[in-house]
Amino acid sequence: MKATQGDPGSRYHTSEGAMNEFSFIDSIKPFQNLSCRVIKGIGDDAAVLELDAKRYQLLTTDMLVEGVHFLSNTPAKLVGHKALACNISDIAAMGGIPTFAVVSIGIPTGTGHIEFSHRVKGQENSMCPDYVSGTYKGIFACAKRFGVSIVGGDTVKADKLVINIALLGEVEKKNLVLRSGAKPGDHLFVSGPLGGTLKSGKHLNFTPRVKEARFLIEQFKPSAMMDISDGLAGDLGHILNASRVGAEIDEQRLPLNKGVSVDEALHGGEDFELLFSLSSPKSAKLVEYLRSHRCGHFVEIGRIIALPKKLYLCDGSGRRREIEPKGYTHF
Ligand code: ADP
Ligand code: MG
Repeated sequence: MKATQGDPGSRYHTSEGAMNEFSFIDSIKPFQNLSCRVIKGIGDDAAVLELDAKRYQLLTTDMLVEGVHFLSNTPAKLVGHKALACNISDIAAMGGIPTFAVVSIGIPTGTGHIEFSHRVKGQENSMCPDYVSGTYKGIFACAKRFGVSIVGGDTVKADKLVINIALLGEVEKKNLVLRSGAKPGDHLFVSGPLGGTLKSGKHLNFTPRVKEARFLIEQFKPSAMMDISDGLAGDLGHILNASRVGAEIDEQRLPLNKGVSVDEALHGGEDFELLFSLSSPKSAKLVEYLRSHRCGHFVEIGRIIALPKKLYLCDGSGRRREIEPKGYTHF
């Protein structure tokens, strides 16, 4: 059915007519119909809901589709790991601790019974009957490591393997960090090297930064935080939009994975590192902590400025050029 102008999802075409993931999501927002228990709906790494006097409930979901997020020769255990880990990363980005998850899976089937259509590379005619159970091994291993209980899900027939996980988490009210709190003068940090994750395989076997995020919120209380899942420039763009500020990134400070260009680090994809801002005094405290503990976990990459939505890249000689706060979009 063709959507009419007033329908949710009807305005997700850009001026060039192409579909855009984020204009689609924006078009849904006005129809959210939020209860008073919703602190934050669409627009952050996870939804924030009232839980009790001291804590918020966090809720997030992510879906992996064969041919889009992984290939039929991607090791099953890594697919399962990624399916849960990218959700855990979103809970971490809010300052929270992951708790309970449900796993829904669409399995390619043949004549009514499950035929597990995954083929092993180089043996295109052979079936890999344990691929789906392999993904569950990855899910359960990741769940155990991060204290997540898998408490349900759904199983359906599908043309391609699809895994969707919805994850709950909790955060103390005083520790909640949103994308919207960055202020001009704040310093910008990332939690690790960026770029080249597709080539290196890190996009599959990354460690969600729960420990690092908890350390940060307890010791330094970032003013804004998110995880980088669509590239630094684009994801920073979300913080800039939500906080109505701009930013400058110092090119020479960007921590790069081996063999990665600045451009790849800015516009690459699934780093799953934390991107956060700290007030000037807290930033000085963190920098001093890193120096005295000889710890390279967090790297300062730039600062927040007052110009809304403007993003600049500064070179070593103090020149700056404007760059698009755009990263990877799915369509
Ligand atoms: P992330 O990369 O952190 O997982 P996304 O870019 O996928 O976040 O989503 C951004 C925001 O839009 C989130 O708050 C998410 O819950 C919301 N969102 C994404 N897709 C939909 C959808 N189809 N319907 C409603 N909200 C959505
Ligand atoms: Mg996220």
